Amino acid sequence: MYELSISNRYLYTKALSKAAFFLMLALSFLTLYGCGDDVDLSNTSGNEHGVLLDGEDSTGQLNDKTFVTASDTVDVGNIDTSAISNEVIAFTNLRPLAITTPAAWTSGSDNIPVPFANEINIPVTIWIVRGPFGTQQLRALDAVTTTVGIWDDERMGVTPSPIQIVDATGDPDASNFFAFDCSLQNGIENNIGKTNGRINVYYVDTVDGGTGRGQACSIGSDFVAMGRFTGNELLSHEFGHDFGLTHIDNLIANFNQTNVMHSASNTRQYLSEGQLQRAHMKPNSALNAVYSARPGEPTRNCPRDTANDECVDIKKRIWSDGTFPAN
Ligand SMILES: [Zn+2]
Repeated sequence: MYELSISNRYLYTKALSKAAFFLMLALSFLTLYGCGDDVDLSNTSGNEHGVLLDGEDSTGQLNDKTFVTASDTVDVGNIDTSAISNEVIAFTNLRPLAITTPAAWTSGSDNIPVPFANEINIPVTIWIVRGPFGTQQLRALDAVTTTVGIWDDERMGVTPSPIQIVDATGDPDASNFFAFDCSLQNGIENNIGKTNGRINVYYVDTVDGGTGRGQACSIGSDFVAMGRFTGNELLSHEFGHDFGLTHIDNLIANFNQTNVMHSASNTRQYLSEGQLQRAHMKPNSALNAVYSARPGEPTRNCPRDTANDECVDIKKRIWSDGTFPAN
């Protein structure tokens, strides 16, 4: 039978207290720096998620620290409260931007809930002013389909639905608006028709003199005019103006004609996360001003070129857009 001698027992006890000491040290370290915080996404769509995080860690203030994951539980490391900004913005396909602000980071273990709302449906009325009706109805529906594809791929979280198409080709006033410019906006709304509380799209002949042109007539709007031979991707561009977005043409280091908000293109397909934040959060975006589609959610008037703790940099990309990498 084995028995500890007095000296062995002393060494054994000493080893135990040493282990206890290091255990305590580890625990106090974890308490000091937090034990791995989570962002808990809910009502997700089964697609990859991207998260932009503001807070503070051992390196200092974090602004839009980026995480990409397929998991609904995003391990964000050890985040503590910052004196400047504490929030989480999340993006995923088929869901509108989700934001939790402020995010209550503590020195302990945090689980910050970030619930996605369901995809936003926006009813749209399309007026075919210049016929033939059948041809132009198909053109309009193709443009809607292209818009849906871009928004689904680029995580807008919005679908134009339901779509009402009105045959206004027989309206006696129709020809007054075939050659459209924005001085005729009130006239076309009053004489052809307008359904309030939604975006109204008018397919005319020319817009600003071109059959391939469109106009939203203002930034943050419920209006779109489309020329008779417009490309299918132009509607997503004009809706972008309705959502408060401006052109990005002169930001040539970070954008090109593949971006939805380029003014002259037929290859529009991408939206940056900076653009998504503005489309959802600008008070004059039709999502807020026309549809009230984000009840109780915060709005922010972020100019295109303002990048700070409240306004995501317009060129911020969680995912690459063609030749422009994630940044
Ligand atoms: Zn434009």
